[in-house]
Amino acid sequence: MPVCRMDLADAGSPEKIVSLILQYESNLSIPVPIEELCRQLDIEDFQDLESEGFEGGLLTDSDRSFGFILVKKGYEERRRFTIAHELGHFLMPHHIPDREGQFLCSRADMLRLGAKETDRRERMEAEANRFASLILIPPPALRLALRPYREPDLAHIPKLARDFKVSKEAMARAYAQHHEKPVAILVTRHGKVLRCYKHIQFPFVVPSKGAPVPAGSLFHRGLHEQNIASDPAECIPDLWIEVKRGERAPTLYEQVYAQRDGFALVMLHLEHPDEDEEAEERDLEESWRIGFRGKRR
Ligand SMILES: [Zn+2]
Repeated sequence: MPVCRMDLADAGSPEKIVSLILQYESNLSIPVPIEELCRQLDIEDFQDLESEGFEGGLLTDSDRSFGFILVKKGYEERRRFTIAHELGHFLMPHHIPDREGQFLCSRADMLRLGAKETDRRERMEAEANRFASLILIPPPALRLALRPYREPDLAHIPKLARDFKVSKEAMARAYAQHHEKPVAILVTRHGKVLRCYKHIQFPFVVPSKGAPVPAGSLFHRGLHEQNIASDPAECIPDLWIEVKRGERAPTLYEQVYAQRDGFALVMLHLEHPDEDEEAEERDLEESWRIGFRGKRR
């Protein structure tokens, strides 16, 4: 059944709103037809945004009696994210713009994930981003798409990004969150860490924003061809994560995907010491069971 704005009236969080939309729109196609969805949810029109330094905007009032989305011209994937972000502001009535009647959002706003508890504006921007990410990459659709990709591999990111029509970074973020294996994906530029997206079970990543990619990393070994994921290579875990003294270190793999303009993604994938052994034990048990069954026949 097509969703309408009334259906979302009681929802306040991005997660709740998206889950309601997905309930009503159980056959939502991928890539999500975001502009169509906006119109269905009472966005009247889209206009090009020309204000320097801003990616998107929303013209509306406090009752949300009308809504126009403003979006900067550019890559389709980026436009789609901006549109979804502005729809998020529109659907969350507790979002109040700095200037009456108009939200204006910058590139930094579009990347904001965390917020200081006390900063209302930061919190709104982070919520609009969570909404955009969830509606363009609906978790049930992503989980389905990840099914053939049980072993983490950076080569999946460009493919999935194309399928969902989102940027590689937006996909990297969702991939790190939703992959069944603990991974972390770092966005780097000119050898420095810009952002890090990680699975909830992945340990704390030591190099922080602005820090150089560690000297011993695969990133610095050889030339990485653009738009081709390198083979995964084992690395010293201490390069990226803290290994407590006396504890057996997990096995850590790195993979690099070089992009243009000095950007590169680095994926870290963890295998716990027992994971391999446990898998071996399971295989062995399985072979015994099969063996016994065989004998009985
Ligand atoms: Zn915003």
